[in-house]
Amino acid sequence: MQQQKNMGAAGPARGAASGDAGAGHPLHVGPQPLNTPEELRAIRQAMDEGKNPLVATDVPRWEDQVGVSRIVNRRILELEPLPTPAQVLSELPLDKAAQEIVAYSRDEIRACLYGQDDRLLVIVGPCSVHDPTAALDYAHRLAKVMDELDGELLIVMRVYFEKPRTTVGWKGLINDPDIDGTHNIRKGLLLARKTLLGVLNEGLAAATEFLEPTSPQFIADAVSWGAIGARNTESQVHRQLASGMSMPIGFKNATDGSVKAAVNGCFASAQQHTFFGIDHLGRACAVETLGNPDCHVVLRGSIDGPNYDAASVRRAMDDIRAMMPADSAAAHGLIIDCSHGNSGKDEHRQAEVVRDIARRIADGETGITGVMMESFIEGGNQPAAPLDQLVYGKSITDKCISWEETERLLRELAAAVSTRRWK
Ligand code: PEP
Ligand code: MN
Repeated sequence: MQQQKNMGAAGPARGAASGDAGAGHPLHVGPQPLNTPEELRAIRQAMDEGKNPLVATDVPRWEDQVGVSRIVNRRILELEPLPTPAQVLSELPLDKAAQEIVAYSRDEIRACLYGQDDRLLVIVGPCSVHDPTAALDYAHRLAKVMDELDGELLIVMRVYFEKPRTTVGWKGLINDPDIDGTHNIRKGLLLARKTLLGVLNEGLAAATEFLEPTSPQFIADAVSWGAIGARNTESQVHRQLASGMSMPIGFKNATDGSVKAAVNGCFASAQQHTFFGIDHLGRACAVETLGNPDCHVVLRGSIDGPNYDAASVRRAMDDIRAMMPADSAAAHGLIIDCSHGNSGKDEHRQAEVVRDIARRIADGETGITGVMMESFIEGGNQPAAPLDQLVYGKSITDKCISWEETERLLRELAAAVSTRRWK
């Protein structure tokens, strides 16, 4: 794979005449010569000295050569080419067994979402993956419980690599795999994909949040359920993305509690869209989608408090049914995220929410298709830091329920489904 770095977007051969729009125009010349290691060192040194490298170095950039240097890329330090999705997928392919798990589990999830399968969909796992070894350790434990409880629960592991931040912070394994601000996205992409292959190898299906509009090209073939997060549920870019995804997508209610924003997301994503994207070779494309009929709402509480109670579920279902067709996944039911605004991000409170829902399911309450739990090996969380400074198996984003408590809760949820079934 390509290893070199490049200042500026695709451009001309070095030394090509600038400002010439005819034959021999810089933009018509072959591939951009990439900045040399010396040039990159000069750029870094200027930065270290607190200077703007675009002004303080004479490193050639295509912007200079086409005569737009005072106008474009004034705040771009570097554009580092990544491997294409096709390269990444062929380097780390899904084997036949993994493909089977993805295809089969997506069908099973759909069956739950439309009410043809009476099991409870349980999306469970860490808030974020920061250590692939610990994530696979967790997957191994979860796979055993999944086998035991699969008559009652359809368990899908949370394998989240992209974290939307309210302000700033660690943005996840793909963006910064070394958790030290070096942002080695090339490494992060491959590591994320390897982790997904490892989860599938345990026999588990994976759920993730889609955040960057182009990153799904590198990993989505290994994902069985996707989320559009609370901060993006109103985003046209994310709704367009969901309209073309091959798996069911859950839209979270907005951080201010708006369920309508998520319903609008389901409605918009069910339609066809045409928008900017990339293809498997990384080329800019006009993407035309078919629309995704399998979108549904996820209640995650808000800054004002929880919305997992029966009255909130009923109100949400009324809002959903007012807009979505009666035979849609969304109109059948919703998923309750027991963490985030529903738990005040406290893992003990989160366990209470799971137990409350188990009780209501056993009592026959309708409208709850699934639950989401944030759970890891150790309970709680710790501040983000490079891996060698961290407690093993403990979240570096939201607080998680410990593995022991998770196992207990999964059994309680399974018992609730049995009770409902034989009522
Ligand atoms: C999450 O699932 O970790 C998350 C960030 O959720 P939300 O979008 O609901 O805040
Ligand atoms: Mn979280």
